[in-house]
Amino acid sequence: MRILEHRALRGPNYYSRYKTIYMRLAIDELEERPSDKVPGIADKLEKLMPSIHDHRCSVGEPGGFLKRLRAGTWAGHLVEHLSIELQNLVGFSVGYGKAIDSYDPGIYNVVYRYRDEATGLAAGEAAVEIAQKLYDGEDVDLGPTIDRLKEVRDANALGPSTGSIVNAAKARSIPAYNLTEGTSYTQLGHGVKQRRFQATVTDSSGIIGHSIADDKQWTKQILDNAGVPVPRGQICYSFEEAKSAADWIGWPVVTKPLSGNHGRGVTTGITSIDDLKSGYEAAHARHETVLVERYIKGEDHRILVIGGKLVAAARRRPAHVTGDGTNTIQQLIDIENSDPRRGVGHENLLTQIHVDEQTHRMLEQVGYTLDTVLPEGEVAYLKSTANLSTGGTATDLTDDVHPEVRFTMERVARLVGLDIIGIDLLAENLVLPLDQQSAGVVEVNAGPGFRMHMAPTHGTPRPVGEHVVDMLFPDPTSNGRIPITAITGTNGKTTTTRLTTHILRQAGHSVGMGCTGTVEIDNHVILRGDYSGPGAAQAVLQEPTVEHAVLEVARGGIMRRGLGFDESDVGVLLNIASDHLGERDIHTLDELARCKTVVVDSVKKEGGYCVLNADDPLVMEHGTYWARGEIIYFTMDPDNPELTEHLSDHRMVLSVKNGKIVLLKGQVTVDIVDVNDVPIAFEGHALFNVQNAMAAAGAAIGHGVEIDDVRAGLLTFHPTPAQMPGRTNYFEADGVKCLIDYGHNVPALEALESLVRGLATKRRIGVATAPGNRRDDDLRALGGQLASMCDRLYVYETDARGRETGETAKLIHSGATDADSSVQVETIMSEQEAVAKAIAEAEEGDFLLLLVDDIEGTTERLKGRSFPTQAEIAH
Ligand code: ATP
Ligand code: ATP
Ligand code: MG
Ligand code: MG
Repeated sequence: MRILEHRALRGPNYYSRYKTIYMRLAIDELEERPSDKVPGIADKLEKLMPSIHDHRCSVGEPGGFLKRLRAGTWAGHLVEHLSIELQNLVGFSVGYGKAIDSYDPGIYNVVYRYRDEATGLAAGEAAVEIAQKLYDGEDVDLGPTIDRLKEVRDANALGPSTGSIVNAAKARSIPAYNLTEGTSYTQLGHGVKQRRFQATVTDSSGIIGHSIADDKQWTKQILDNAGVPVPRGQICYSFEEAKSAADWIGWPVVTKPLSGNHGRGVTTGITSIDDLKSGYEAAHARHETVLVERYIKGEDHRILVIGGKLVAAARRRPAHVTGDGTNTIQQLIDIENSDPRRGVGHENLLTQIHVDEQTHRMLEQVGYTLDTVLPEGEVAYLKSTANLSTGGTATDLTDDVHPEVRFTMERVARLVGLDIIGIDLLAENLVLPLDQQSAGVVEVNAGPGFRMHMAPTHGTPRPVGEHVVDMLFPDPTSNGRIPITAITGTNGKTTTTRLTTHILRQAGHSVGMGCTGTVEIDNHVILRGDYSGPGAAQAVLQEPTVEHAVLEVARGGIMRRGLGFDESDVGVLLNIASDHLGERDIHTLDELARCKTVVVDSVKKEGGYCVLNADDPLVMEHGTYWARGEIIYFTMDPDNPELTEHLSDHRMVLSVKNGKIVLLKGQVTVDIVDVNDVPIAFEGHALFNVQNAMAAAGAAIGHGVEIDDVRAGLLTFHPTPAQMPGRTNYFEADGVKCLIDYGHNVPALEALESLVRGLATKRRIGVATAPGNRRDDDLRALGGQLASMCDRLYVYETDARGRETGETAKLIHSGATDADSSVQVETIMSEQEAVAKAIAEAEEGDFLLLLVDDIEGTTERLKGRSFPTQAEIAH
């Protein structure tokens, strides 16, 4: 077996509404060996992976897949089920999968859901290996495979704090995106509604607050000035200063580096000059400035305040063991470390206890060694500070905080100015006001860890991630999303995308748009190129000012990666016509229809709209079947019998009646605009643009745009290179009429034909090509269609896409002459040469149809002749 292609479809796609992995698999000689010809394969698999029994498969009951395997199925099907179960075995619960034979014998399209992309891909590779071994009768050892998959899983896993926030966001249907690989910098929500955070620092965490938290002395001054209890302390630059500071403060004291974390370099409970010396040095090794502080007797507490509210409080104890009268201290540590919650570093909920220098010193101070059998009930501390990262434990006390303590802690958050703050409070307990006990704030932390609150060693776990999300998105009904319009079809996508964008902008919204050509934020081009795939969605939805996203969605992106969003508000399906057939396993119009309907199938169910072309039978059939949300049809025929029921149900239809584009609903007819006043309609000659205009109006109406604003948009959208680069751009120069367009398939040219007929009065000179990846017959038909629209035709070639140079042009050329021998056809390979020749040849009254790739070059060339101003064109 060989994997020919393997990639994640990261959004709704041809196979599923959810994220799916696609694998193109050649099973080669196994095509001749269905599983019933492999003795014992099902028994072997069942023994290897007992949980595969749960796979119901098409049989619909547990054991279903094993039944299929015994009855005989293909290797691709086995790979699918293995890919699913391997993911289940490492903790990612998935169920959906499919193995579909392709148009090529022995080649299968295997798809299966995933949660983590890297793990999903790795599971697919492992599945192929295992399936091959099962077929070959070799032994399979699952252990190493599972270990490897776990490694992949852990390498990609979010840390506990980030994970808690992301999960809380997803529970509210707020989308989350990692913005930079290798960091936890995360975007929640879209466009103007988005918020960003990294670990537990948010985009509203104050940078001054951050600096204050980083400087223990600065923190203490601010809190001391405000009457919050803090240990008295002094900054020292030498040991001599430290000595006099200790005398002034009063013994016992603590030494620590002015700035630091994880308790590194901190020595507590210093009672002698000797200990002060080593404490000073330990701190000085970490920071040039050493803080000497009064030692406060009390327990370590961590108070978490989010958005001004105390949401969790925990008591932390340094790593310790409690004696049982039989085990040595070392044995007790080993028992502790075998707790599965204890992992390495910050990855797990608790951390392993490592015996180090400090542990030996601590034990020595109380007269113990690691070999001491600790008496029952006696506690031996193994570290001097209570950090979780050195093996400490936490007990949740959130429900036992005195209101005065709560008030003081929330006040500290305000005084320092941090939206998420971890306050280190030394106090005997939290049930008494601070002034009634020995207590003081020793430090505040920006970006505090959440582990100890989410999974305390003892006590109730606290949903801290939810508090962060509720702070970032205070409106409980908001999911941080902006309206998305997705526009697909065979032809007219770019035009409709630009027009919809124009209407929304006209109505006062800030719009991010992606199409074949550009990505634009309002009227600024931020990227150039073909942006009809998921890359545009990413760029637009990340932009912090965008209120509306309008996205052209082409077939290529859907098949390669899936959509760039999980759900849209309005989906537009313009038409489904023969183009690109034969690519990526789409060979029939029904298959093409399924691809395009992905866009309407991912519209949101509640409050979403699908805008469908009722005059296109394929759209009518497939679009209507897959559409979610409410349907708005558009049709040239206001009496379209297929829409009678839809209308009488008081659902919306756009149509043309008495020369006007109108909105129909039940008995009501609302005039939107005169077709003759819509510049891109060319007085009705460009019927396809009337359809595009109705589609864009439907999309805007779906978003709740007022009819007046829809009208204003339609009236002010001109077929100029500025507003519609390369689509039906019309000029007259020296009496020569010239239309620049981009149609390069038969249905697009058929649409264009009525416009050409409406504009041309004398000789028609055409310049045209098509990308080489179309089928031979399609290229010939294109030539035939061009022949019916031109008297003289220049064929050029820019994009061979896998064909021999000249082959594409030849097919178009012969298609044209075969269809109509009276047309003069000439092949000139260079686009600009062909254009130049056509322009030179044109005489007053002639009509030039320039179907060009290089719009700018052609426009420049036209400017070489006398040329009207932009204002005249617009007029
Ligand atoms: P972390 O990263 O855990 O916050 P840190 O390096 O910032 O550690 P501190 O928080 O200042 O260091 O101190 C670490 C621990 O030392 C405290 O949690 C507390 O147990 C102890 N400690 C610090 N200052 C005092 C003090 N004045 N009196 C008593 N114990 C103290
Ligand atoms: P592409 O797939 O190349 O991105 P597209 O779908 O974005 O194309 P446009 O660029 O808007 O389509 O239009 C290309 C050409 O297709 C137009 O210039 C016109 O000739 C034709 N066309 C536009 N709209 C329609 C339509 N609704 N129906 C048929 N043909 C159309
Ligand atoms: Mg601290
Ligand atoms: Mg396009």
